[in-house]
Amino acid sequence: MWNYSSEEEALRDVLRLSRGMTYKNAVSGLNLGGGKSVIIGDPKKLKSEALFRTFGRFVDSLGGRYITAEDVNIRVSDIEQVALETAYVTGVSSRAGGSGDPSPVTAWGVYQGIKASVKYKLNKDSLKGVTVAVQGVGAVGSHLIEFLVNDGAKIYAADIDPEKVKANVKLYGAEAAQLHEIHKLNVDVFAPCALGGFLNDQTIPEIKAPIIAGAANNQLLDERVHGAMLKERGILYAPDYVINAGGVINVYQELCGYDAEIAKKKASGIHETLLAIYKQADEQQITTNAASNVIAEQRIQSVKAMRDLRNTMDNQNWVHAVRGRGR
Ligand code: NAD
Repeated sequence: MWNYSSEEEALRDVLRLSRGMTYKNAVSGLNLGGGKSVIIGDPKKLKSEALFRTFGRFVDSLGGRYITAEDVNIRVSDIEQVALETAYVTGVSSRAGGSGDPSPVTAWGVYQGIKASVKYKLNKDSLKGVTVAVQGVGAVGSHLIEFLVNDGAKIYAADIDPEKVKANVKLYGAEAAQLHEIHKLNVDVFAPCALGGFLNDQTIPEIKAPIIAGAANNQLLDERVHGAMLKERGILYAPDYVINAGGVINVYQELCGYDAEIAKKKASGIHETLLAIYKQADEQQITTNAASNVIAEQRIQSVKAMRDLRNTMDNQNWVHAVRGRGR
């Protein structure tokens, strides 16, 4: 939910977001396509049960082709009002048999992604003594710090909210850093966990960390230009939609009967997914974000080709065709 200035702006955003979901689900191996919805309006003024129930009826009218969940400005309590009108909804509270707040599993996936990146770039099996600068210590950032500290990493933290930084200093022994300095620190990993678009012409030359791996969505201001800039500078970039997929992996698990341990185990797969992407990027001399796009597109195309083939055949020919492929 966002106070877009026009319908055109909302449409552009929802198409960009739904494309992102498609790639995220494809590369994460989930049995989902990708979609997104936006509600136009000021969340502080317009939220109501009537609004969310109307939205729920709209989602229901799609008959299950689209399943909704929380995102920016949409809380578990809002989603529960949506759930009064449709079963095509995930992210309901754990009391109601759902998965609740996705941020701990998202952070777990990012932690696995940082481990994979440290292994690939620095050839270290452990995070002991590894330094990480976390920008944004909200829901995901603070859970991430907990996982990193428990593994022996040294943390620097910055947030526009000084109280959140103080809490992380007290709880996890993080060192407070200046807001405008956090990305410039001489550390092993820079973890953007605040807003998108931070990796741009101005900030990339200032980054000293050899690895960028964090939770924020749409980190590259321009995917092609800034992905290439990072590659040129020899910085290993963990594509955002790959490393932050723990949230959707978690809600997806609700469709199969929610089990927190299974969700966490599946989010651990982000480690292997990233290693495969890094290897492919190096072999083909392309950016890591281009490599993950290729892997996602290949999966989408191969599933589509199989489905198209199925649609052209009767059952008997289909069985022959599948057996033939098997040989
Ligand atoms: P959050 O709102 O809880 O935390 C974001 C934090 O960033 C806040 O503490 C905020 O004060 C801080 N912040 C904002 N601007 C900043 C700036 N310029 N410099 C430093 N700090 C700043 O959000 P979250 O749920 O932790 O999500 C963090 C990011 O991860 C977002 O980009 C989100 O889209 C992405 N993400 C989250 C999830 C999830 O499960 N919550 C899943 C996938 C992706």
